[in-house]
Amino acid sequence: IVQIQDVHKSFGVLEVLKGISFDVSVGEVVCLLGPSGSGKTTLVRCINHLETINEGRILVDGEMMGYREKGDQLKELSVKKIAEQRQRTGMVFQRFNLFPHMTALENVCCGPVRVQNRPRREVETEAMEYLSRVGLASKATNYPGQLSGGQQQRVAIARALAMKPKVLLFDEPTSALDPETVGEVLEVMKSVAKAGMTMVVVTHEMGFAREVADRVIMMDRGVVIESATSEEFFNAPKNERTRAFLRGIA
Ligand code: ATP
Repeated sequence: IVQIQDVHKSFGVLEVLKGISFDVSVGEVVCLLGPSGSGKTTLVRCINHLETINEGRILVDGEMMGYREKGDQLKELSVKKIAEQRQRTGMVFQRFNLFPHMTALENVCCGPVRVQNRPRREVETEAMEYLSRVGLASKATNYPGQLSGGQQQRVAIARALAMKPKVLLFDEPTSALDPETVGEVLEVMKSVAKAGMTMVVVTHEMGFAREVADRVIMMDRGVVIESATSEEFFNAPKNERTRAFLRGIA
């Protein structure tokens, strides 16, 4: 459902992604691991077209993200079309990015009502179900400021799910949280994965990657240095730098 083909991305003279390729199939959970600065965050932002790319192609559900072919060149799509495409790729950020002046319920309803033009009543009923799924039905009328970091991140997950995306992208969703609330967010992510959602997760949580990922992709300095099932990756990593990375974490 996601095809990443020889993607290159530079910021000025700094080439951050140096030809990344991999596919994600429907229902698969892929964790992106790697040292700080290896380009993981940049790559997920490219999938959602929050960053433009310099070379290569990213396809989501068979359609090129952010661009169309024009002769042998790529041309960026209109803002409207990009917004439409982004509905297929829900994103959960490191900092929850909830609207502070809206309740948890309003945050979850906002996209389906305003972007997808669906009837508010129907959306509210569904939004309550998503809030229940993340264990927060009782906090529906609370504002983000009245919720813990972990609770806000769970609302952010409910909000992303409410758009019914084809794939959910997570960019280090627990790294800005107090340690005591990390577990509850990982549990919610695990249940979303179990329910069959396709997920690409940038994380430093090795336990989560080991337990939940179908596949682990290790990046280092802008390239994929290892791609393996979670079992192979953690039990018998092939690459020396992967082994060093895992030793450093343990
Ligand atoms: P981390 O785990 O620390 O988040 P990462 O693997 O996600 O690391 P990226 O955040 O993708 O790495 O960053 C890769 C490199 O690109 C870094 O050297 C970073 O400084 C640089 N970079 C990221 N965004 C920009 C930007 N907007 N402008 C210039 N350089 C950037």
